[in-house]
Order: sequence, then C-alpha cells, then structure tokens
Amino acid sequence: ATGTPLMAVKGLEAWYGESHVLHGVTLDIHEGEVVTLLGRNGAGKTTTLRSIMGLVPRRAGSIRHAGQELINARSDVIARAGIAYCPEERGIFASLDVTENLMLPPVVRPGGMAVSEIYELFPNLKERARSQGTKLSGGEQQMLAIGRILRTGAKLLLLDEPSEGLAPVIVQQIGRTIRELKRRGFTVLLVEQNFRFAQTVADRHYVMEHGRVVDMVRNEDLNASMDRLHEYLGV
Ligand code: ATP
Repeated sequence: ATGTPLMAVKGLEAWYGESHVLHGVTLDIHEGEVVTLLGRNGAGKTTTLRSIMGLVPRRAGSIRHAGQELINARSDVIARAGIAYCPEERGIFASLDVTENLMLPPVVRPGGMAVSEIYELFPNLKERARSQGTKLSGGEQQMLAIGRILRTGAKLLLLDEPSEGLAPVIVQQIGRTIRELKRRGFTVLLVEQNFRFAQTVADRHYVMEHGRVVDMVRNEDLNASMDRLHEYLGV
C-alpha cells in the first residue's frame, strides 16, 4: 500500500517497572490492512498491542494514528480515536449472558455496530444470546470478545492471539470473520503464533525478537521466506 499509513509506530519503547521490554518497535499499518505480529514467546508482541492501547505504564517513541500523536494519550482517548483491543484472555464476564457481555463496552464513536449487526456477523453467537459466559465454548468466547469491541465504533482492531487454544474448524471460522471485517473496511493488527492461520488472513507480517521488529514479510512472499522465518521463530 502507498500513501500515509493509518497508524505509524516509530521507535516505541515500553517498560514494566524497571523492566525495559520494548526497545524501539517500528511498524506501520494502512487502512484496510490485516497485519500480524509474529515472534517467539516473550518477544514483546502483547506488550506492543498494550502499548498502542495505552495500557503499559511507561512508554516512549511515537504512535501516530490518523494524524494524531498517541504516545502520551490515555486509554480512553485512544479508544475515542477509534482503536480497540481484544486481549488474549478475552475478558468474558461469566455471570453475564452473551447479549449482556456485548452491551458492556461503551460506544465511544459514531459507527459502532448495533448488537443486531454483531449477531448478523456472528450467527452462532445469536443462537447463544441468553447463555451465560461460563457456558460458552472457547470459540464462542473468542467470537464474543471480537464482536464486543465492534460496538465501540473502533476501526482499528488489535487482536491478541484469536486462534489460541481453539480447534482447527473454529480457527477457520475466526479466519472467515477477520476476512469479513477486512471486507467491511476494518484494519486489524493481530498477534499470532499460528503461522498457517496468519497466512490465511493477513496482508503482511512483522517479526518481533527481543522487543524489536526485525523483519517484515508480505503474505505473498511468506512461503519463499519460510527458512528465514523458521530461524526467527524456532519452529
Ligand atoms: P507471549 O506470546 O508469551 O505473550 P509476547 O511476545 O506477547 O509473548 P510479551 O507478553 O509482550 O511477549 O512479553 C514481553 C516481555 O515482557 C517478556 O519478557 C515478559 O516476561 C515481560 N512482561 C510481560 N508482561 C509483564 C508485566 N506485567 N510485568 C513485567 N514484565 C512483563
């Protein structure tokens, strides 16, 4: 893609207390792209998403999004700028049913999806509308976690390992959902360990190692770059 990216992250550093975790992460995402962050455990992928969302106590560098500098912005300001984060642990409330869980996030921007539209996108969830969070399968919880952030009106979605722990057929469903979100104009940055899955959804892949982005591969070049990637990822 050419032109100004929707989001440009430059020299992003992050700390948890004394622990310096990100050492200058640089990446960009164009509107409508699906981009993955690949890398071994502990490479800093989750911390990158959390930093973009303003959830890490100390950070430095630059996060420009739609013309606005967000490096010092609070999470609520970042959310209102149109960014939403879906954590790996999903955060489904066990005692609430599916509809109640969907109603939880505040609508912070015009264009947030109505619950009925979310159900149209996730027909399986609609069938489970009155089921409590605890009764949902892992796949249903993941769909709910993604569906829920669509209510906010965000257009840039940060998804942390949506395929994690799910059966292959459910992973395929999540893949279809992400492709549908792209078709509808959403931009997605997702952390993935599952290479195969990443390949079915993404336009580009960034590779992280020791708190830095060390490589970028276009999806069409992924197969040709396998040897290099295997070295980074140790798979
Ligand atoms: P994983 O897939 O295991 O989550 P990751 O690439 O997402 O890996 P991060 O979770 O971002 O990696 O972790 C990067 C580094 O930061 C690791 O060394 C981790 O131990 C450290 N770290 C993560 N969260 C915290 C925290 N809350 N406090 C202190 N250190 C943390």
